[in-house]
Amino acid sequence: MGNSNCGISSCEQVKDRYRHTCSDFPCRRLKQLDTRYRAKYHMSMIDNLAAIRKDGIRAFVKNERERWSCKACGGIIDVHHYRCSVCGREPE
Ligand SMILES: [Zn+2]
Repeated sequence: MGNSNCGISSCEQVKDRYRHTCSDFPCRRLKQLDTRYRAKYHMSMIDNLAAIRKDGIRAFVKNERERWSCKACGGIIDVHHYRCSVCGREPE
C-alpha cells in the first residue's frame, strides 16, 4: 500500500490504529487530523501513536488514564472542554 492510498478510511495505520505499519508515518492525512486534534482536544494522535509504538498499548493506556484524571479530585477530564468533568478544574 503506497502513500497515495493513505486516506483516513483506507490507510492501514488508521484501520489498525494500534499496530500500524504505514511506512510513511506520520502521513499527510494523519498530520492534518493531528493538527485538528491538537487544537480541539489538546492531544496529538501522532504522539499517541508514537508512544504506543515505543511502549506498547498497555503502558499507553495507563499513561492516558493518569493524564486524563483530575489531579484535584480524580475525576475524568472532559477532553471536549479540557477540564475536569467533576470539579471543573483545568489540567496543567
Ligand atoms: Zn476534578
